[in-house]
Amino acid sequence: MHNDPILLLNPPGLDPNHRPNREGTASFGGMSPGFLYPPHTLAVILAGLREAGVRATLLDATGEGLSLEETLARIRQASPALIGAYVSWGTMEVDLSVLRALRDAFPHTPIIALGTGARYHSQAFLDAGASHMLVGDPELAFPRLVQAALPEPGPIKVRELWPEEHNYAGLLRHPQKLPRPAWDGVPWQRYGFLTLFGSRGCDDRCAYCAYVQAQGRSHRQRPPEDVVAEFVWLERTFGPRRIMARDPVFAGQRWWAMEVARGLIQAGFRTPWECETRPEHLDPFLLKKLAQAGCRTLKIGVESGSVEELVRIGRVENASHARTYLAYIPKVVRTAQTYGINVRAYVMVGLPGQTMADIQATAAYMRQLRPTFFHPRPYVAYPRVPLGPGQDAQAVQRLQGPLLEVQQELQTVYKRQHTFWRRGWRKLLLALPD
Ligand code: SF4
Repeated sequence: MHNDPILLLNPPGLDPNHRPNREGTASFGGMSPGFLYPPHTLAVILAGLREAGVRATLLDATGEGLSLEETLARIRQASPALIGAYVSWGTMEVDLSVLRALRDAFPHTPIIALGTGARYHSQAFLDAGASHMLVGDPELAFPRLVQAALPEPGPIKVRELWPEEHNYAGLLRHPQKLPRPAWDGVPWQRYGFLTLFGSRGCDDRCAYCAYVQAQGRSHRQRPPEDVVAEFVWLERTFGPRRIMARDPVFAGQRWWAMEVARGLIQAGFRTPWECETRPEHLDPFLLKKLAQAGCRTLKIGVESGSVEELVRIGRVENASHARTYLAYIPKVVRTAQTYGINVRAYVMVGLPGQTMADIQATAAYMRQLRPTFFHPRPYVAYPRVPLGPGQDAQAVQRLQGPLLEVQQELQTVYKRQHTFWRRGWRKLLLALPD
């Protein structure tokens, strides 16, 4: 490690069985027994610092699997003048412990806590040892902050720091202004894939949604040609096995998703990639283009198979909308699978007011739907989410039972489908004229 004045830290986990996934759920974060996103936010900040001519190093202690002691030793060796520590709401317990240890080990070093999903809990991070807490999106704000004399210790609102670039909630107005992540400074190979954002935000109003709390209610896309160029740059520069687009609603604007798909096809892009969107955003023609562009997995939030529950949680406006929604999803799943796109379908367990009848309706629906992968996930009430608190752990366990049975059944179906596609039918279908 070089003696750069700034050290960006993805803090270590303290339990090898549950590691901090600070990028998860649009940076609200969470502890994970397995899956982790690479620290995209820190990689963008590193790129911004380089553009500004500020020397900086990124230490991904979670990615490298470092212990707290090893992390402190590496920081000691680097001897930075300032530490930027990535923190999140869902990893707060670990983050507070690491901040305390950092403060003990480096009593005179400014420590700036950063992370959009932690912005409602500034005081806790300051009390634990951060000298400053950057409140809001940190990607443009952090490089600007460290180029001038630091203000007095305490919270720093990104909106006050740079009002032209951040809205009233401290979120980026123009995601297209962000530099490409400096992945060369991250041990990204340990995660097995790279990530990309084509857009931020979503203008829907699902009452349980954390994404809009973290990214805002306006869907802001980057120009499609920039997104295509970044996909191609990732493939040619780093050669990842796959790429994950992390937009909450990749196909929220059909023309935009179509432009990206066409651009990738034209560029001869070959790396498998995946994205997430509402099922209603998809239609057969768009699905075919996405498949031709290399999309291999779609994540769709079905959320529930119960008409009443879909209305109650604000996924749809009324019962008639819920029925249309449930009738349309199987068409999307079948078409996607025909083009060789795996579908991961998600539902939530432990929602407020959820009954066993809702769960039975969801189980019956998923049995018919037969997505490639089925994920019944406990509902988490993220900060300021309008739906409010869910049910307790015991209720979640009881409600999850019937859905886990369906999950088991579907795994057998997937094995059969997989064998089918290995025979090369996918290639043939995609080559047929539109
Ligand atoms: S469509 Fe998805 S991202 Fe948009 S509000 Fe609903 S859950 Fe959130």
